[in-house]
Amino acid sequence: MGLKTPAEYIESLRDGRITYWDGERIDDITKHPRFKVPIAMTAKDYEYDSPEYGESRRYKTEDGGYGHRIFQVPRSEKDLADRVEMMGHSAISTLTTGVFMALMSVKDQVAEVNPQYAENIERMYRYCRDHDLRAAEVITDPKGDRKRRAHEQDDPDLYLRIVARNKEGIVVRGAKLHITAASLVHELVVMPTKGMRQDETDYAVSFSIPVNTKGVKIINRSFAPAELNSFDYPASSHHSMPEGFVVFDDVFVPWDRVFLAGEVQLASRLAQSLGLWERTGGVVEAARISELFVGLAQLVTEMQGKDGDPVAQNSIAELITYAEMIRMGLEYACTHYEKTPSGMVFPNTLAINAAKYYYAANFHQTVRYLHDLGGGLVLTLPLEADLRNEESGKYIRKYLHTKPGVDVETRMRVYNMIRDLTADAYGGWQFVVALQAGGGLPAQRLMMNRTYNMKRAKERALAAAGALPAKGH
Ligand SMILES: Cc1cc2nc3c(=O)[nH]c(=O)nc-3n(C[C@H](O)[C@H](O)[C@H](O)COP(=O)(O)OP(=O)(O)OC[C@H]3O[C@@H](n4cnc5c(N)ncnc54)[C@H](O)[C@@H]3O)c2cc1C
Repeated sequence: MGLKTPAEYIESLRDGRITYWDGERIDDITKHPRFKVPIAMTAKDYEYDSPEYGESRRYKTEDGGYGHRIFQVPRSEKDLADRVEMMGHSAISTLTTGVFMALMSVKDQVAEVNPQYAENIERMYRYCRDHDLRAAEVITDPKGDRKRRAHEQDDPDLYLRIVARNKEGIVVRGAKLHITAASLVHELVVMPTKGMRQDETDYAVSFSIPVNTKGVKIINRSFAPAELNSFDYPASSHHSMPEGFVVFDDVFVPWDRVFLAGEVQLASRLAQSLGLWERTGGVVEAARISELFVGLAQLVTEMQGKDGDPVAQNSIAELITYAEMIRMGLEYACTHYEKTPSGMVFPNTLAINAAKYYYAANFHQTVRYLHDLGGGLVLTLPLEADLRNEESGKYIRKYLHTKPGVDVETRMRVYNMIRDLTADAYGGWQFVVALQAGGGLPAQRLMMNRTYNMKRAKERALAAAGALPAKGH
């Protein structure tokens, strides 16, 4: 019980979990080079004595102990602001633990259908908080033929389903894909990928189980090679997190860990509850990256003597617009927050969905400005090893000189950051993450259509068209 140290977190991963990477079954992920960076990133968030971030990471629970702030149920604007601040410096493997906020936000609605499930949510939340555990958001099914419903697929397991029930619990079979940090956490929190109909009761299932549960197997994939140096790869050398292809091979789940088992009316509630918190995380990351884009664009422009050039200034203004729209969207969402009936505060749904949509829909065009300003060196810059080699290094220093006051090594670092962040393996990952993580563009469009004040807009349109008496502004 209580907060863990980084060393205790690392030790806790040696629990017999079954993971694969590069065709190899890995028995102890703490010793495998592929997991070095992701484990270090996750362990860092257990540094509660950090002078810089320690306070931001923890909060006092209602029981008088301490918990990681990811478990704090926000009750005020300040709580929400503290949460967003913590999210800005935390690993994604910590942020996915926010899946418990989604569960807590629908707990009251779950209680109306089955109070036992709601009790299970509360107990699992407290158990994970009090043992300082991390959880993955395990939602996306393989889905097979997208035109067919879950129960109409060629293989009935293409959506995770209940295959048996008994007095002790349920047995589930299926897979969940793209699961961020699945191998790095303690609990897999499973929810339906979408709403289910009356004839799909076996697919309306939600629960939480430890990663090392019998029958769970995780096949990992990441953009990052095992070893990277921080000169050539300033972003991805310390920032990579595998996604897991998670198989549930007839896995037993005891009833006290079940949040839903057949009550189809709750499936879409659970599925949608997560979207908001996932997208909030996406917008926090977008705010960070888009500010980096502006800084990098300004630096390459100045370093190459293009400052003052109207084309460069236009491009930078586009990047600033992008960064500011995202930052303002996030701020607005937190200051115009909403509240559940039980007093839990959450970011404004419309604003978060609009900000996430704006970030995702414009990411590709926006990165274009950075690539345009940077030129070909974004891709062709020699590696650090060639800079350090005396023979080749002298040519690199000579021909990468631009003007007095610009250090060649600093110029190379700036270029490496642009490439790593937007044009290499990590960069390619970012392009798809912006679009798909937290649900594709249609998911945000759906939520915006649902939450926009359409009644007021229609009234105003009718009044403007002279079909209703005008009500003023
Ligand atoms: C890096 C990364 C990390 C992720 N992390 C997680 C995670 O931690 N947990 C998790 O649960 N998921 C995670 N996801 C999954 C993500 O939520 C999904 O990728 C996303 O919801 C899209 O689903 P899909 O990949 O199955 O693609 P599809 O469902 O194939 O969707 C692709 C496009 O097709 C459209 N489409 C779908 N069905 C139809 C249809 N019937 N007719 C017409 N068009 C259709 C969609 O709207 C979308 O535009 C992650 C994804 C990525 C890329």
